[in-house]
Amino acid sequence: MTVTTFSELELDESLLQSLQEKGFTRPTAIQAEAIPPALEGRDVLGSAPTGTGKTAAYLLPALQHLLDFPRKKSGPPRILILTPTRELAMQVADQARELAKHTHLDIATITGGVAFMNHAEVFSENQDVVVATTGRLLQYIKEENFDCRAVETLILDEADRMLDMGFAQDIETISAETRWRKQTLLFSATLEGEAIKDFAERILNEPVEIEADPARRERKKIQQWYYRADDIKHKTALLLHLLKQPEVTRAVVFVRKRERVHEVCGWLREAGINTSYLEGELVQAKRNEAIKRVVDGRVNVLVATDIAARGIDIDDVSHVFNFDMPVTSDTYLHRIGRTGRAGKKGIAISLVEAHDNLLLGKIIRYVKEPIKARVIDELRPTTRPPSEKLKGKPSKKVLAKRVETKNKQKAEEKPRVKERHRDSKNIGKRRKPSSSKPDAAE
Ligand code: ADP
Ligand code: MG
Repeated sequence: MTVTTFSELELDESLLQSLQEKGFTRPTAIQAEAIPPALEGRDVLGSAPTGTGKTAAYLLPALQHLLDFPRKKSGPPRILILTPTRELAMQVADQARELAKHTHLDIATITGGVAFMNHAEVFSENQDVVVATTGRLLQYIKEENFDCRAVETLILDEADRMLDMGFAQDIETISAETRWRKQTLLFSATLEGEAIKDFAERILNEPVEIEADPARRERKKIQQWYYRADDIKHKTALLLHLLKQPEVTRAVVFVRKRERVHEVCGWLREAGINTSYLEGELVQAKRNEAIKRVVDGRVNVLVATDIAARGIDIDDVSHVFNFDMPVTSDTYLHRIGRTGRAGKKGIAISLVEAHDNLLLGKIIRYVKEPIKARVIDELRPTTRPPSEKLKGKPSKKVLAKRVETKNKQKAEEKPRVKERHRDSKNIGKRRKPSSSKPDAAE
């Protein structure tokens, strides 16, 4: 039986009420699948695409547990949530506060960029839920300012990102420090790759593994286009033109480097477009302010680097712009995932210079979705489009040519020892592959 309403999940009235106030009418796929085993106290290894409601999938059972087993005296945190970035920690805490609005539960954050003085109260007052980034938390654990012994549930959000960012060791240390806990929940956009599986095995105890396939209505509807540009000046002109379209109500513009953030912001401001920006070196107060200005609707363009934008959930982003193309297809997916959240439509626009063509081809093959070329009449590129590289599949002619050059290259290369199934099956010593034999199957 699939769960279709929140009341079927047997959540407390106070939680059901805040869900209703938040306008969450029914659980998303990951929520419907992860909440029941989590409520039973099982460990959960959960994955679902970005924007499909993973936060509430772990917050609801965690809060429900605190309501089911209230403690008599106040004390240190019972639920510890780890996130890869400060912004995400704040957003998770905000969502927890909203969900816990009609309860007496206390929620706090511990992240870098905040003075110890502000955390002192976290340590002196009652805390039920703490949302933290690993670096600062570890520091407080080492200084014996943070008491891990009351932690009953450890939750890892965006585990894939945390591993990418090199936090595996930190998390394992925190896992060891909270070894008295009864439950661990790990959520991630993907569970692909050995690293995360390995990691999960060390941290979790006989988890229920859930890979939620989001319902059609939750799936993103992101239209993807690209415009060819001659150079950075041309890209800027395109960006300005596009940002001025009335349907662009809230946009995130991605650039590759921190310096570029300031350049682009300058150009936009000169053109009379109010922007906010995020980059890794901003002090925390500034970062919060930048996000707040966008969330409040005071500005509708946010310029950001990938690192600075990680994990941020700004609702209703109508357009994502790749001012600089991302270096990997995975980053592309993360970027465009900023728009089209929770079943809303979104548009992702890439500005592509000649040197980005190969990259674009790779991305098109990776996302397996059409990314269509567009032009603006008065801003047509003067350079010619590359003929084959951009298509999802290379033409026969190109393939033939590729095989030809590959073989040529091969003939010039030193012979490489290549392990094939049929070679290793040959008991005894392996045949030496011959370099002269063209191997089209490679
Ligand atoms: P994820 O962590 O999977 O990327 P989030 O938890 O950030 O996704 O949720 C994405 C958006 O969907 C948020 O704006 C959140 O408020 C909204 N959302 C979450 N659950 C529901 C629900 N059951 N119904 C409607 N909207 C939801
Ligand atoms: Mg999330």
